[in-house]
Amino acid sequence: MIPHVMPTYARAPMTFVKGEGSWLMDKSGERWLDAGGGIAVNILGHAHPRLTAALTEQAQRLWHTSNLYHIEEQELLAARLVEMTFADTVFFTNSGAEACEAAIKVARRHWYVAGHEEKTEIITLSSSFHGRTWAMISASGNEKHISGFAPLAPGFVQVPPNDIDAVQGAVSSQTAAIMVEPVIGEGGIVPLSDGFLKQLRVLCDTHGLLLILDEVQCGMGRTGKLFAHEWAGISPDIMTIAKGIGGGFPLGACLAKSDAAKGMTAGTHGSTYGGNPLACRIGREVLDIVSKNEFLDDVRRRAGFLRQRLESVTAEHPRLFRELRGTGLMLGLVCRGANSPVIAAAHDQRLLLVPAGGDVIRILPPLNMDEAELRQVCDRISAAARQVEMATNA
Ligand SMILES: *Cc1c(COP(=O)(O)O)cnc(C)c1O
Repeated sequence: MIPHVMPTYARAPMTFVKGEGSWLMDKSGERWLDAGGGIAVNILGHAHPRLTAALTEQAQRLWHTSNLYHIEEQELLAARLVEMTFADTVFFTNSGAEACEAAIKVARRHWYVAGHEEKTEIITLSSSFHGRTWAMISASGNEKHISGFAPLAPGFVQVPPNDIDAVQGAVSSQTAAIMVEPVIGEGGIVPLSDGFLKQLRVLCDTHGLLLILDEVQCGMGRTGKLFAHEWAGISPDIMTIAKGIGGGFPLGACLAKSDAAKGMTAGTHGSTYGGNPLACRIGREVLDIVSKNEFLDDVRRRAGFLRQRLESVTAEHPRLFRELRGTGLMLGLVCRGANSPVIAAAHDQRLLLVPAGGDVIRILPPLNMDEAELRQVCDRISAAARQVEMATNA
């Protein structure tokens, strides 16, 4: 018999009932160290007092009115995002996939109103991830995600990451935009090089294409800058965010420059929940905390500390781990075999990690995890690795 909850996830057998900072409590009262942060969502840990207060205050005032009316919280958050980024305008969504779909609509509509109806094609990267809606699995073309869902949405072409010649070769008179994650997340923690990102910007400028950056996972301070593309010194025409911006409350956004968004007039796009007062109130609180220079300095310091320790863990277990990749607090331990034995052994150590494609283990701690906890993350990974090595020696 099919479970009441449609069985689309391979879930680990834990159920958590309470969270506090970097820790989760399960039903039996065990404490787990959360180095996955709900897949880069709980960027301020669990039950952060300022987020709880903001949510409670807003809950007592106003939950939902719909986008038939002006929403003050939406306008306040949009103004902050515009002030802090390349963008001139923001469309709010409830998830990352919806933000990416909005980005595609903005790009296509841009060319439509410019009198270039033929410019509809979007170039993406072959190991990319932009969400699990039908259009977004079509965008990424990942075999595991598209199987059984044909026919796919047309108008996407994939090229390998960090290969500017491949991108150049895919550009045609139909190309509307190039969409990439500055740090590929689900696809196995693959940072795009600063050089490649700069070349993409030049290529887009040369051919008059729109550059869409998907910062759903790598944005919001994760790499030690508010947005990952800042490291490369470039800016996109359109950017998507979600995950961290809500700190655990469902919220996403598509940010754009005014010229990129020139086709987005009344009636062209919408969402019933998108930019709901509760979500935007939380988003503003998260952004206020994360965008502070001192906070981002701390993220970079913590990232340096974590990386150094994890480099030694990687070196101590050469039969298990091939390399450590990533940037900031977005790290990937590349395994020599399947990632699942190490992740399962980490569960025995009461440590939560996140699997990624290509046998990679993702480490995505809350951005405010302290050094003692980060040290524990490394010690527990080390213990899990020893456990796996002993089991395979036996
Ligand atoms: C998670 C993710 C998405 C999809 O977000 P959902 O909220 O799951 O729809 C899109 N892009 C990237 C880079 C992601 O990591």
